[in-house]
Amino acid sequence: MGTKGRAIVGIDVDNLLDMLNKALADEWLAYYQYWVGAKVAKGPMRGDVVTELMEHATEELGHAELLADRIIQLGGTPLHKPEDWYKMTNCGYEVPEDPYVEVLLEQNIKGEQCAIDVYQQLTELTKDADPVTYEIVLSILTDEITHEEDLQALVEDIELMKERK
Ligand code: FE
Ligand code: FE
Ligand code: MG
Repeated sequence: MGTKGRAIVGIDVDNLLDMLNKALADEWLAYYQYWVGAKVAKGPMRGDVVTELMEHATEELGHAELLADRIIQLGGTPLHKPEDWYKMTNCGYEVPEDPYVEVLLEQNIKGEQCAIDVYQQLTELTKDADPVTYEIVLSILTDEITHEEDLQALVEDIELMKERK
């Protein structure tokens, strides 16, 4: 922890750390949901869907990395135990029991929409009070917005393909 770096934060740091750890829980669950979804996916445009899901998995892991580093900088501890992911998550985990591509995509769209809300709240909270965290959560928010759009574009393409048959 940098003591001066923590002291300049203009909001309750412990509350911020709690919110960052909750977002970290979301990112790990999102990572696994994408990763395992890419393994089991079946249906039209499987190749394109798998490529997108794997890309997003990698990006969610990158978000976890950014959050964990900032948590440590602020004197916090990133969640230690996978069981804490379920206890702390905002957005939960959608079990990919049905491997059909459109079902997986809808589950992941739901997750992205939740993530957009979470990072929108974090950007509002940190905007003036903590510009360093703000920059991190803004970059993650931008990624989540791209993720939602990518997934919705795939659903649209699958629907168009079905209509034109
Ligand atoms: Fe993410
Ligand atoms: Fe995402
Ligand atoms: Mg993408």
